[in-house]
Amino acid sequence: MVGQSSSDVVILGGGLAGLTLAIQLKQARPETSIVVLDKREGLAPEAAFKVGESTVPAGAHYFAEVVGMKEHLDKFHLKKNGLRFFQPAGDNGDITRRIELGPADFPAHDNYQIDRGRFENELTRLVLAAGVDLRQGCAVRDVTLRPTANHSISFTQGGAERSIDSRWLVDAAGRAGVIKRKLGIGREVAHTIDASWFRLAGGIDLEQWGADNPTWMGRMRKVGIRQFSTNHLMGPGYWVWLIPLGSDHISIGICADPRLHPYAEISDFDHVLDWLRRHEPQLAEVVSSRVDSVADFLTVQDFAFGVDRVYSQDRWTLVGEAGAFADAFYSPGSDMIGYGNSVTTDLITRDLAGLEIGERVEYYNDFHLRTFEFVLSKIEDHYPAFGNPVVMVPKLCWDAMLNHVGVVLLFVKNKFVDYEFLQRVRNDIERFYAINDRVQQIFRDWHLLEQVETPGPAQAYVPAKAIRESHTALVLDYDDDELSSAIARNVRIAEALAVGIFHRAARNLNPRPDPAVPVNPYAVSLRPDDWQTNGLFAGDVLLTLAQADEISEGMQGLFIDRLLDGAA
Ligand SMILES: Cc1cc2nc3c(=O)[nH]c(=O)nc-3n(C[C@H](O)[C@H](O)[C@H](O)COP(=O)(O)OP(=O)(O)OC[C@H]3O[C@@H](n4cnc5c(N)ncnc54)[C@H](O)[C@@H]3O)c2cc1C
Repeated sequence: MVGQSSSDVVILGGGLAGLTLAIQLKQARPETSIVVLDKREGLAPEAAFKVGESTVPAGAHYFAEVVGMKEHLDKFHLKKNGLRFFQPAGDNGDITRRIELGPADFPAHDNYQIDRGRFENELTRLVLAAGVDLRQGCAVRDVTLRPTANHSISFTQGGAERSIDSRWLVDAAGRAGVIKRKLGIGREVAHTIDASWFRLAGGIDLEQWGADNPTWMGRMRKVGIRQFSTNHLMGPGYWVWLIPLGSDHISIGICADPRLHPYAEISDFDHVLDWLRRHEPQLAEVVSSRVDSVADFLTVQDFAFGVDRVYSQDRWTLVGEAGAFADAFYSPGSDMIGYGNSVTTDLITRDLAGLEIGERVEYYNDFHLRTFEFVLSKIEDHYPAFGNPVVMVPKLCWDAMLNHVGVVLLFVKNKFVDYEFLQRVRNDIERFYAINDRVQQIFRDWHLLEQVETPGPAQAYVPAKAIRESHTALVLDYDDDELSSAIARNVRIAEALAVGIFHRAARNLNPRPDPAVPVNPYAVSLRPDDWQTNGLFAGDVLLTLAQADEISEGMQGLFIDRLLDGAA
């Protein structure tokens, strides 16, 4: 055996999570010895490398501000115009008839569309400059985890067997999930979605599809900026992403529920083209006229998975896709990398400073798993409703609001690993998670009770005040008291929204609940048999619909009834 050595930290995998963690660790504690083992050799292709291109506020903040990549991102990648969603209308032959949710201009908080190859190459350069021992061409074969001694990692490099010892072991090997497999701590999730994607050189400006409709064009503050969003073309059981990239490619991907779209229909490029012709004809027309510009084609079946533990007192952690992955919808992958890497950095630096970490490990492990459940609940079993705007419009707004006011706000304000502060606001964050579970089940049940097709042309959609403010609040400055008050205020607003959503969805019940009777937002459901047992009419927080309307100004704007009436 050659190459035996020892290190403070070994990171398995030098992809997005592993490389950013190495940089973050070196920034936090420069003297830390770090070895990164990665299978790949040499530079990544600049374009058409991996998925994970669209970032949302927490992930964007992590890469730009925490890891320090802002200058590189501003120069070599694209600033992103938020998330934009199109509901279906008729045969989807005219984008201007589809209900559209998305910002009229670039949001206040910078987000980016990232070319993964270009980004990882720059991270590699910085990792080496920081003195990290990055070893490429190394395939990790096995790990021996030791609670009271250094861990041991065996790998092959250029055909030779090697091993290394380390105090800390971080699994950042993505879907290979080395530690997860070794310990058997993977967890199945009841969310089975397939995806196929490709990159098209030369990009696509989807605004051109509606360029002769001045009303539609006039919805945006400037011509030509719609394309910089992560555009979601949605329909029953699927969504298609369109992500422009700095290398002048566009990433195009289908995520589909196999109950409605069997995997065979998207499993190769020719099938994808046929599928697009049936479901997204405007996109199909552009792609089929430019097949020579298709740079790659990749696919993954049943992409979601969970895990029982991500941080261990035995000095190992799982970051990025080596832990858990829910869905690409809402682009949460990089957020989860930011959370995992930041906690890992905190735990390692404390441990190497001789501090006790046991309590923090358990606390953050629990918080991470709860946060993952929150992310998953927003998407699990919701694909069937993706083409039903009566449910999806309020759902997209609810999800956007709830996403920005809790853990993302904490992270963007650099309070995520402030252990004392997190403990102070944890109850309120848990309230978001609890109320969200209720409201997500309402959305699932509502879809079974009420389905509409929008006749179009759809008017511009103006979301409620709470949703708009949840985005702008990310760029405000807060001291600790102000931040905890802002989170508490948002709990009140979420409670009000939950009551409003309940009453609108419950119009489909017979008899309907009386809006003048106060209800408990943590017990709302569309299953009347559960109301008494769940405590719908009891509890500390009770709201009538009128009270809920007053707390969350403009809430009725969440519902598309006016839009449907107007079009009729
Ligand atoms: C369809 C789809 C779309 C997505 N879209 C988005 C999105 O828009 N936005 C977003 O934020 N996230 C998105 N994600 C998630 C995103 O792809 C992941 O969060 C991200 O790529 C995970 O990075 P990672 O570093 O954990 O894994 P990777 O980037 O896969 O890195 C793992 C590294 O480990 C190395 N490795 C693996 N096995 C071994 C071994 N045995 N020995 C040594 N090295 C090894 C590999 O070479 C690789 O470099 C998407 C995911 C999917 C499936």
